[in-house]
Amino acid sequence: GATIGILGGGQLGRMLSVAAARLGFRTCIFEPGGDCPASHVANNHFRSEYEDADALRDFAAAADVITYEFENIPTSALDILEPLKPVRPGRNALRVSQDRLVEKAFLTDLGLATAPFAAVDDAVDLAQSIDEIGLPAILKTRRFGYDGKGQARLRAPGDAEGALAAMQGASAIYEGFIEFSHEVSVIAARGLGGDVACFDPGENVHEGGILRTTTVPARLGAAQRADAVLLAAKILNKLDYVGVMGVELFVTPGGLIVNEIAPRVHNSGHWTQNGCAVDQFEQHIRAVAGWPLADGARHSNVVMENLIGDDMDRVPALAREGNAALHLYGKAEVKPGRKMGHVNRVTGPA
Ligand code: ATP
Ligand code: MG
Ligand code: MG
Repeated sequence: GATIGILGGGQLGRMLSVAAARLGFRTCIFEPGGDCPASHVANNHFRSEYEDADALRDFAAAADVITYEFENIPTSALDILEPLKPVRPGRNALRVSQDRLVEKAFLTDLGLATAPFAAVDDAVDLAQSIDEIGLPAILKTRRFGYDGKGQARLRAPGDAEGALAAMQGASAIYEGFIEFSHEVSVIAARGLGGDVACFDPGENVHEGGILRTTTVPARLGAAQRADAVLLAAKILNKLDYVGVMGVELFVTPGGLIVNEIAPRVHNSGHWTQNGCAVDQFEQHIRAVAGWPLADGARHSNVVMENLIGDDMDRVPALAREGNAALHLYGKAEVKPGRKMGHVNRVTGPA
């Protein structure tokens, strides 16, 4: 059988490996860390740094197609991998999603609504942004942020200095604060031949910048639902995308606003494991392997709850629940804010 190479060895890589195995593929992962979630289930682990060109070449030799579970793959690694094996989704999706400023510019060029934004590299830029975009606002590092890390809220002009200091010298983006009623996301997939399939939008609740729950169906009207799916398809088509993408949206009275995109399987798509015949992980493997996509149909309503840090103490009780599908990542060390697993509860038929 063919081998799928996965860059990154976290829980997303683990669940991709499991899905790949179910379809008869072998997997190899590339991950500097040793005892990582994907290493427990992948067939082969290339344990090297992204600067190690020889290791990258060995990894490419072992794989028939290469994909990734996180968006911060260094460009230098892509330079080595791309001539050797197909990398799906492609470089363009990484270029756009690695930098919040590039991403916002891409989205607005597509005609999609985003928060008002401006680049901030120093105090002068920040004062100008406060002036032009107004308050409240959020300052975010352009690169490497996740789970709300690298962000600072500004409520009053006096917050400027502290917010800038929180960026620790990194280039930042200033975003006007969106007064949304709730947050939803679309998990969308595009196949090698250009066909697009979307899962039903899920409704997301964050706590302290970290995803807490996703609920399907989301509170959306028929027109909003159609809009969410159409705008996701527009993004995938523009990028000539192959694979699964997460598109995070704010729901406002004026319409849907795109928060950010993730060129990979997404935490807010974990509900698909127990709500659909084919989940987001299998869908992604199908796409990158050039298989036909599943249609994304949902058979059940689901609430997905993340197990973060000490939530792991609840596992024995969850295991006694009759209707709680547990997905644990096998991480040895519990840390505050660390995603340790999730639980899907089917709440009824779709
Ligand atoms: P993720 O873990 O999803 O990658 P992240 O660190 O990239 O998160 P964002 O998605 O940009 O961060 O922001 C985290 C959360 O903060 C959002 O889901 C939303 O609740 C809130 N937020 C971010 N930007 C804005 C904004 N412009 N207006 C209002 N709320 C926002
Ligand atoms: Mg993000
Ligand atoms: Mg986000």
